[in-house]
Amino acid sequence: MPTRTGAEYIRGLRDSRSVWVNGEAVGDVTAHELFKGSLAGMAGYFDWQKKHADACLMAREDGSVSVSHLIPKSREDLARRHECLRTLAKYSVGMLGRTPDYLNVTFAGFAGQPSIWRQAGNEEWQENLCAFQQEIAVKDLALTHTIVHPVLDKRYPDYEGVNKQLALRKVDETTDSIVVSGARILATLGPFADELAVYPGHPIPEDQPDVALAFSVPMSTPGLKVLCRDHYGVERNLFDHPFSSRFDEQDAFIVFDEVEVPKHRVFCNANPTVFNTAMRNGWTGNIMQQTVIRALVKLEFAYELATRIAAVTGQQQRGEVTQMLGELWSYAELTRAGLKAAEDGAAADRDGTWICDERPFFALRPSMPGWMVRVNDILKTLGSHNLLATPAAADFGDETLKPVLDTYLKGAEDTSAEERARLFRTAWDMAGSALGGRVELYERFYLASAPRNYALAHMRAQQSAAWEAVPEFWRATDEIMGPYGLCGEGQQTKGDEL
Ligand SMILES: Cc1cc2nc3c(=O)[nH]c(=O)nc-3n(C[C@H](O)[C@H](O)[C@H](O)COP(=O)(O)OP(=O)(O)OC[C@H]3O[C@@H](n4cnc5c(N)ncnc54)[C@H](O)[C@@H]3O)c2cc1C
Repeated sequence: MPTRTGAEYIRGLRDSRSVWVNGEAVGDVTAHELFKGSLAGMAGYFDWQKKHADACLMAREDGSVSVSHLIPKSREDLARRHECLRTLAKYSVGMLGRTPDYLNVTFAGFAGQPSIWRQAGNEEWQENLCAFQQEIAVKDLALTHTIVHPVLDKRYPDYEGVNKQLALRKVDETTDSIVVSGARILATLGPFADELAVYPGHPIPEDQPDVALAFSVPMSTPGLKVLCRDHYGVERNLFDHPFSSRFDEQDAFIVFDEVEVPKHRVFCNANPTVFNTAMRNGWTGNIMQQTVIRALVKLEFAYELATRIAAVTGQQQRGEVTQMLGELWSYAELTRAGLKAAEDGAAADRDGTWICDERPFFALRPSMPGWMVRVNDILKTLGSHNLLATPAAADFGDETLKPVLDTYLKGAEDTSAEERARLFRTAWDMAGSALGGRVELYERFYLASAPRNYALAHMRAQQSAAWEAVPEFWRATDEIMGPYGLCGEGQQTKGDEL
């Protein structure tokens, strides 16, 4: 089966899923006016993948599949995947965070690590996982995922008191299925996905096996409720709103109301050992190749956008402007350097799957959110009122208005009014529109919060080395300086030895 076209993807969404937005039960998401632009944007992704087949597709006996499903078994495979992920990220210049390649890479990583998923009696469920990974590749499915447990009251541990009752857990088991109830945050792409995947997130208590679950179900599964946040897509053209006209990937809160999960779709059935080790061994090194490539594409785009803004306003020589541009470039370059270090340091794990060096990724994970927020700050600082003094495409279509716009709203160095408007509109939609605000929040939290990730980085650093630099420095200093009489009272060497 070949990969899908955008039209085929849209047809695949016509089912009985339970999606709610603005108090309305949507019914057919493909027929709802509100979602028209987002669905066109997602359909475009599938067409883009086909258009860039050389980079994005690989031929197999069962048809061509996305390279994002590749389980890397060599450095060359990682490089091939890099090329595919970069090409896919360019489609939205990184403004879409959860295009299907995100979860394709995730599941390729899981399928490539049998030693983790086959432990502690999980053999049968691991085979389901591998079969599922093949299924999503062959059918070219789009997945959403919810791995985060909504904690209602942070004064209590995640799975205690009032928090416990929200937790997604197994409530029953039949011969053919497990039954699950509870809630999860936050399914990006929720209403526009074919399947909802649940897999390990934050560690869970060993004494609560019922929350240790991994599985996937079609979005139309009875009992699954998809509660959409406000939709930030706008029904406008690409000139006016290059991103919010098509790239609202729609986040949703998910409620599981006695959802029956067929056993062949269960990958971890109440097994805390598997649950608590899956994310600690290679997940970061695998998935962050995708996320960092996306972030790099976005940062490079933002740098060029900001540089063009400086030129169009004649500010490219101003000291504070060049400082901001240099700052922005530095974020892109640090991201590129971290990615290169991670890929260069990649190695085969015990299953023979190639995983990037996790250390640069553990450092980038909490740092990048701050950079992304600063990027938006710089775009707004440089753009100033210009971000809002931007005629729309329709204004340029008006014969009486056009000469006025051409006179009063052109840019420096003979930049046409139309190009100037398009530039500032692109910047505003990236950094300031309702969708821009949502994307900024996404950057802050999509890989969990920065405080958690800095703590995690520290924990990993402690595990990775003996950290003896401080006593080593003291020993070496005492040794070399001892003869000069600089050691304190009672120290090993005395000056009078000179
Ligand atoms: C737009 C968007 C899309 C998302 N999409 C998905 C998705 O598709 N799938 C999915 O599973 N999840 C998704 N998420 C959820 C994401 O994965 C995060 O887990 C979640 O947003 C973090 O929520 P939290 O409140 O539990 O974070 P917390 O870690 O509790 O952090 C919230 C805040 O609490 C404070 N805090 C927390 N820990 C500490 C600490 N140790 N020290 C000091 N302060 C601390 C900080 O101020 C922090 O910013 C998405 C989130 C957003 C915003």
